[in-house]
Amino acid sequence: MGSTLLRNATVLSMDAERRIFENGDVLIKDDRIAAVGVVEPQDADAADEVLDMAGRIVLPGLVNTHVHTSQQLERGLADDVDLLTWLHDRTWPFESALSEEDQYLSTLACGCELIRSGVTTFGEAGGQHVDATGRAVEELGLRANLCLSSMDCGEGLPDGWVRPTQEVLAEQKGLYDRWHGKADGRINMWFGLRTIFNCSDELIVATKDMADTLNTGVHMHVAEILEEVRFAEQTRGATTVEHLASLGALGANLLAVHHVWLTPKEVDLLALHNVKTSHNAAAAMRYLGFAPVPEMLRKGISVSIGTDGAPSNNHMDMMSEMYLVSLIHKGRHLDPYAVTAERVLEMATVMGAQCMLMEESIGSLSAGMKADLIVVNPCDFGTLPVHDPVSAMVGAMYSANVESSMCDGRWLMRDRKVLTVDMESVLGEIQSRADTVRKRAGIQLPPRFPVTKVR
Ligand SMILES: [Zn+2]
Repeated sequence: MGSTLLRNATVLSMDAERRIFENGDVLIKDDRIAAVGVVEPQDADAADEVLDMAGRIVLPGLVNTHVHTSQQLERGLADDVDLLTWLHDRTWPFESALSEEDQYLSTLACGCELIRSGVTTFGEAGGQHVDATGRAVEELGLRANLCLSSMDCGEGLPDGWVRPTQEVLAEQKGLYDRWHGKADGRINMWFGLRTIFNCSDELIVATKDMADTLNTGVHMHVAEILEEVRFAEQTRGATTVEHLASLGALGANLLAVHHVWLTPKEVDLLALHNVKTSHNAAAAMRYLGFAPVPEMLRKGISVSIGTDGAPSNNHMDMMSEMYLVSLIHKGRHLDPYAVTAERVLEMATVMGAQCMLMEESIGSLSAGMKADLIVVNPCDFGTLPVHDPVSAMVGAMYSANVESSMCDGRWLMRDRKVLTVDMESVLGEIQSRADTVRKRAGIQLPPRFPVTKVR
């Protein structure tokens, strides 16, 4: 793959000391970072490609830890509705109407949006057509933890979604065998547990055991809504996290997503067991409520950031998500220090890497790490001037400022053009494919204002 030297950038290394290099360099050799900050002249001279990054900010690729690739074509189909309508009348029918090829296009479309908002690694929340997702991720060049949406109980779900426990476990294991370590190691197979509503204790325990044995992670929606707390208390005699603790299912390889309705005792349990977490600010503001993120950070919990799916957010955009995370906790607590810009940037990089169980290889720019990085160009009316690059990254930049992106030493995007897939052809297919799936699912939106069809 050769070597590339990025020169004269403001480098936010996010390394152990969080060093920032002004007019700094980053040397990439093959799929790894070879040097950061100051590059020796002989190494600089030997680089195959030298790019002047004056005026740019270079930082680790962002990590989006909760993504529903299977909901990408459902964007805008579930706005201004209650959660039950969101689930039963929109999202479940839509997702269950997807074919393998729909899921493939859906993942490509989602992946292009992720790349163009600075993401190089994401955690899949779990869909039905994992092979199609894997195929698309392989082409996109992204790094990802994939998982199957796994359920063995629950009412009112689409046909085929709820299956016998052993069948769900066997399918997860089969997917692991097919996909774990694929795409030059960029794809890992995790195990999914949808929610406590849809997972028996037997499935929870066996899934966690299997993940421990195979040294991989478990992705689960946890303490998402108030009804979940009530349901867990009624059916299990304890709130979700307390119940998971009693099952022995908490651990460093569990990613708990949303974590909104936690008791102080549950926050302590997450900290005690080094459980990883994913804060989805936009989805939380839409339906769920405020996750106790400042408290969780104070207790040393790894809190990462996720966008959730398109119908929960509309923006699968980590730049706007960072901005939201930086704001909402300040407003809620009337505390400008509740979640600071440096903390948000850590959540999107180093803590994101921890939550994906990849902190040894990604999340910071230092010699020996995988070459996953982005180049941000702040030169625009809405973003200049930059007085403080950390606060500018979190509070002022848009995804449009993400100029280039590299994952595993390969450019995924240069000058806003995605290089790994045919961006124009994916873009050209989104609307018609989404319309077809919506009709197949039988979803009709009531008009918000009177509509006249002129022709
Ligand atoms: Zn989700």
